[in-house]
Amino acid sequence: RKYSTTHKDLLAALDLGEENYGVYNGSWGGSGEVVESISPIDGTVLGRVRVGTTKDLAETMEKVEEAKHVWSQLPAPQRGEIVRQMRDALFAKREDLGKLVSLEMGKILPEGSGEVQEYIDMTDYAVGLSRMFSGKILPSERPGHFMAEQWNPLGIVGVITAFNFPVAVYGWNSAISLVCGNPVIWKGSPTTNLTSVAVTKLLSSVLSRNALPGSICSLVCGGADVGEAIAEDSRVNLVSFTGSTAVGRRVGQIVQERFGKCLLELGGNNAIIVMDDADQVLALRSVLFAAVGTAGQRCTTTRRLFLHEAIYDEFLEKLVKAYTQVKIGNPLEAGVLCGPLHTKAAVNAYRKGIKDVLDQNGEIIFGGQVLDDLKGNYVVPTLTRISHDAPVVQNEIFVPILHVFKFTELDDAIAMNNSVKQGLSSSLFTTKPENIFKWIGPAGADSGIVNINVPTNGAEIGGAFGGEKETGGGREAGSDSWKQYMRRATCTINYSGILPLAQGIKFE
Ligand code: NAD
Repeated sequence: RKYSTTHKDLLAALDLGEENYGVYNGSWGGSGEVVESISPIDGTVLGRVRVGTTKDLAETMEKVEEAKHVWSQLPAPQRGEIVRQMRDALFAKREDLGKLVSLEMGKILPEGSGEVQEYIDMTDYAVGLSRMFSGKILPSERPGHFMAEQWNPLGIVGVITAFNFPVAVYGWNSAISLVCGNPVIWKGSPTTNLTSVAVTKLLSSVLSRNALPGSICSLVCGGADVGEAIAEDSRVNLVSFTGSTAVGRRVGQIVQERFGKCLLELGGNNAIIVMDDADQVLALRSVLFAAVGTAGQRCTTTRRLFLHEAIYDEFLEKLVKAYTQVKIGNPLEAGVLCGPLHTKAAVNAYRKGIKDVLDQNGEIIFGGQVLDDLKGNYVVPTLTRISHDAPVVQNEIFVPILHVFKFTELDDAIAMNNSVKQGLSSSLFTTKPENIFKWIGPAGADSGIVNINVPTNGAEIGGAFGGEKETGGGREAGSDSWKQYMRRATCTINYSGILPLAQGIKFE
């Protein structure tokens, strides 16, 4: 396949070429196969990356082990200063990197740049955190004793990421992990290798300017074999995995087998409930963004919509009209809201999803077509009407298909919202306090993200992000998520000169 020269300047600005190495551990290399980065926009080859093997990973792990001692010994605020410099490096290339994300992943440009901004926001958060994380001092029951918690770096953090957020998910993990004192070893998605290399080049420039080992931010591009080897390696103290539930289940079992720590961010099957008292304009805009944004390829994409019977017809009519007006096409063009699906496999998943809906007594309200006349992987965002317990509704199909349901009582809508195996994000649109407090309380949504009058997607970095049930239970980004990247030591210091035992035990 011919290499596209259209984006040569962009690649050069990001220190990328036609041929690139996909392994970094202080120096660049890689002895695996050469993988083409194919743009979902038009099928052109953006560049090539020679990825890593498990042997490359083993060599890299040794370098990371060495770096661990240097990095964990630096005082946290000094680590924060390095992350602050990384922020500046990212900021300087925000537009270029955002454009590369659009070209390689396929999301629209504002979302591509937004994702880089998310990483930048995360570095800001992490820099502040580097001067703030603190342990508790706890009352000891023994006289002349002092009891406190000390938080130490955990060791090495392995980060395995999905194709749909090729920058931000690594950003959440790396920024926090680094200020916590852990070097990071990253395996990105095999279909977004150029982005992984571009990000690592920016970070490595900061490390080298500060005479720090490059392996503090290591990269091993590769496939499932490299991912499994990271999961198996007992030197990796925390494996932060973002991807499908099927793969996450396997990774979780491998890591548990060796009693490693695991942070799982897996698939979602998110719903929006619109009550009869809701602000319908707000709800409509939210549904559109949450179901069509990123062409339905966010873990937090709305896949199920529950409409109160009193507003069902009117809301659906407006929604269909809004769907008709969505501009589908090249994600780099202004005004386009829906870019291509990431791969041909995703187009096939869309086709199968539509067929399953029809086979399971559902109907297509809007959409259902693959846009074969366009060069890229374009499909029409789709609305369906089907039973809420149909098998096709139970699984996450990672494409823009939204199933619409009618309900009468909020309690029934909540039960249907909670009836799926996944538990990432749920939103309720209402203006009534009694609905709001029910929704966020014990009888409400059972997901990790529980929203009112905001879409299921588009979380801020200040909160802890993640979901329950088959979404894996992990929490990343803000709040106290940093604790997972550190080892808590409970320290008791006896300054009494005698030895009173806890629980009043006499042992003499
Ligand atoms: P995927 O599971 O196919 O791949 C994810 C990563 O796992 C890739 O880097 C892949 O190479 C690697 N991998 C594959 N097999 C492996 C194995 N046996 N051992 C270790 N690693 C392996 O997912 P995807 O298609 O890239 O991404 C889409 C999925 O990710 C969706 O299910 C989506 O909901 C989920 N996701 C979840 C979140 C979240 O925060 N909950 C965020 C983004 C995406």
